[in-house]
Amino acid sequence: NGMKSSAVVIEKEEGFTPAVKTKSDSWKGKTPQELNDIVKEFGIVGLGGATFPANVKYMVPKGEKAEYLIINAVECEPYLSADHRVMLEKAAEIIEGLRIIRKIVGPEKIAIGIEINKPDAIEIMRRQAEAENFELEVVPLKLKYPQGDEKQLIKAVTGREVPSGGLPLAVGCVVSNVGTVNAVYEAVVLGKPLYERTVSVTGLGVKNPGNFLVRVGTPISKLLEACGGTIDRPAKVVVGGPMMGFSIYDLDTPVTKGTSGILVLTDKEAGSGARTACLSCGKCVSVCPMGLNPTKMFKFVDHGDYDGAMATDLMDCKECGCCAFSCPANIPLVQGMRLGKKMARKKKVS
Ligand code: SF4
Ligand code: SF4
Repeated sequence: NGMKSSAVVIEKEEGFTPAVKTKSDSWKGKTPQELNDIVKEFGIVGLGGATFPANVKYMVPKGEKAEYLIINAVECEPYLSADHRVMLEKAAEIIEGLRIIRKIVGPEKIAIGIEINKPDAIEIMRRQAEAENFELEVVPLKLKYPQGDEKQLIKAVTGREVPSGGLPLAVGCVVSNVGTVNAVYEAVVLGKPLYERTVSVTGLGVKNPGNFLVRVGTPISKLLEACGGTIDRPAKVVVGGPMMGFSIYDLDTPVTKGTSGILVLTDKEAGSGARTACLSCGKCVSVCPMGLNPTKMFKFVDHGDYDGAMATDLMDCKECGCCAFSCPANIPLVQGMRLGKKMARKKKVS
């Protein structure tokens, strides 16, 4: 996205030997803390895109209780299908991963939320759980964005509302992405650190779209080569999804643990029109899933009044992009929210 960042270049010796052991169920003799230490040491993070350390999420503080462990199998954005692919190919591994996380977190119930347009994944997860006599509630969910947001998912599965500024544990829930569950299985059972992930490469600008198992650090240019290249000159290459992702200008940008997708967009898909003045149409307000007033918040940020933006609940913004997507004036509302949050945090620290 144009910002500079520190990087480490790792030079490898000849060949590549995967650090994977043979399958072992010795984990069953380990304590919850020992298992969570493996999750930490093997670098497991949330693979939905946020890359929050999984061991921190699974650590339920003393005196609190996780009634629900909810598995997020809702693709975080349109176009992406990496979670779907993982469920179709790794159902048995996901169930074993859930046994491990159940031992760490100690929930009373486990549920997995899957969008209704993925009947094959719903069926395969139900069948696998039944075959292994594993208690798992498979919850088909309406197809709507941002259903994959933690708070929306908790509401859809349990009917509970996470309070403003609160964490899922405030309503007795721990949420984990389905790809992360598979990564926990691979770390604990196979001894495999998180060095590769499933990435959706899609959009009308790529010749052969698909899901790929990609090592962290692989340049995006190599991934596009594996798809047969691009169709003409793409209008935009986006890391992530169309709503929350960011455009890149250098195809040597590497895949990271948080890269759920690469979108190669044509002019038609990118739809980049010129920004005009706000029309006061209210569309951004009506689509905001958090019940915020994006146009008001943006005006505060645009005028450098970060305290004013904070007073309109800026920190509750999930950066889902619904407001910017609906805005007929092409106002960069999400970028404004991100900038406002960053500046408000900076001001607080100083
Ligand atoms: S990005 Fe826009 S629509 Fe999404 S939560 Fe923030 S203000 Fe609301
Ligand atoms: S959708 Fe865009 S034009 Fe309409 S009120 Fe919101 S910011 Fe203004």
